[in-house]
Amino acid sequence: MSTLSLERLRREGEAFMEELSREYYDAHAGLKPSAELQPIYEKYAAILGRDAFELTREAFFGSAEGSEERRSTRLLLDWQAESQSSRELAPMDEREIAWEADAVVRVPDGRVIPYQRTAIELGNSTDRAERAMIEKARRVLVEKELAPMKRERFQRERDITESLELASGYIPTWELLNGVSLSALRDECAQFLRDTQAMWDEVCPEFVKRTLGMNAREATRADALALFRAREFDQFFPASEMESAIRRQVREMGIDPDAGGRVRFDTGEREGKRSRAFCAPVRVPDEVYLVLRPHGGQTDWNTFLHELGHALHFAYMRPDHPMEYRWMGDNSVTEAYAMLFDHLMQDAGWLQRYTGLDRKTTPTFLRSAGFEELHFLRRYCAKLIYETQLWGGEVSWDALPDLYVDQLTAATTFQYARADAFVDVDPRFYAARYLRAWQLQALIAETLVERYDADWWRNPRAGPWIVAALFGEAQRELGQEQAERVAGKGLSFAPLIRSVERMLA
Ligand SMILES: [Zn+2]
Repeated sequence: MSTLSLERLRREGEAFMEELSREYYDAHAGLKPSAELQPIYEKYAAILGRDAFELTREAFFGSAEGSEERRSTRLLLDWQAESQSSRELAPMDEREIAWEADAVVRVPDGRVIPYQRTAIELGNSTDRAERAMIEKARRVLVEKELAPMKRERFQRERDITESLELASGYIPTWELLNGVSLSALRDECAQFLRDTQAMWDEVCPEFVKRTLGMNAREATRADALALFRAREFDQFFPASEMESAIRRQVREMGIDPDAGGRVRFDTGEREGKRSRAFCAPVRVPDEVYLVLRPHGGQTDWNTFLHELGHALHFAYMRPDHPMEYRWMGDNSVTEAYAMLFDHLMQDAGWLQRYTGLDRKTTPTFLRSAGFEELHFLRRYCAKLIYETQLWGGEVSWDALPDLYVDQLTAATTFQYARADAFVDVDPRFYAARYLRAWQLQALIAETLVERYDADWWRNPRAGPWIVAALFGEAQRELGQEQAERVAGKGLSFAPLIRSVERMLA
């Protein structure tokens, strides 16, 4: 057993990531019945314990502000800090996963719905009374069983994180480890909600009325699930064309969609395989799986594009970057590339060239896409504001359910439920990653239009630039650093507001 050093943490840390990622891939792709994570954690206990944390803490605080060493040790310290709580909370996480797999919602009409299928059932139901009945049964179950587990888990995570004494509280610790100001982002979110309020008030009633035949003021989050399960355009996004059309587009912009064999498309039918597409980087950049079961429709195309963005990012990372830049870092960057790809579904030229949408139907489709985009942006802004209050320590946790309902309902118009106040929470401020990814994606898209024209997605010079300037850099940079380097601008909601206004016009 050799003594701990940063070099050992990097070497064994990468082996640990690879084993963990392969286990997830095997389980979610249906190659194994379940993921056995505990043996992997045990095998690598030496690089995940308190000593490893102390070593990275010293390296981080001993490094000079602004140095490459500070940049890389911050990522290692974030990883180590997270390990301290995930190791201790592993039994709680396993209990929660087991609950989610087994729990059932008992609907008064006699149906028994697996908990994990409730969102799908709500989305597919065209009857408002039926949705209300399922939703009520779900809410009662969540409030009684899942919410207390989640609440306890978050409390323990906060206590463990604060006991590391890296900074004075949960939020300052997150900000230190991530190089992002949450208070600045929270203020931007509040401003975005104000800036888009009039636009939202104008379009929301129209879409709710047209799609659900309801008054928007009476709609709940369960109704919203049905509203955004758009079937209206699914015929234009056939399953049989999806992979070949998108591969063709990626080739047309000068990128090999297989990345020389490093991206492996797992498209076969297999029992136990997840129905939603996902990307599993098992060795970075050499072995990246894109797993899918094409069933067609707008959502399926969207998910495939998103996961392809992640897969190409991993597969084109420069192999000489240290493991923390390839496996860790600001996930706003990889989410921005995933969104750069899924936002192609908002580009009229792209839609007409690669999907079944014609000139006549495209404007209606784009208007609906703009409405959906505005809804998700407003929902995520409200979530981020709420989550900063959850972790901020100034609001009593007993007061949070009412606060959650007020804020999410005000932002989206849809009536939210108190039961979800601890359930609808993205761990470790992942909402902040998505929001900054949204902003970064919009700047990158504008840059691509400036450099390679409106149809950059079929310009053979655009792909090589994307690979060299973006994907190759792995996740060495923070989202805001990349925005400055690539677009010469800071991250903001301004380009997103412009694009939503264009789509809704
Ligand atoms: Zn993603």
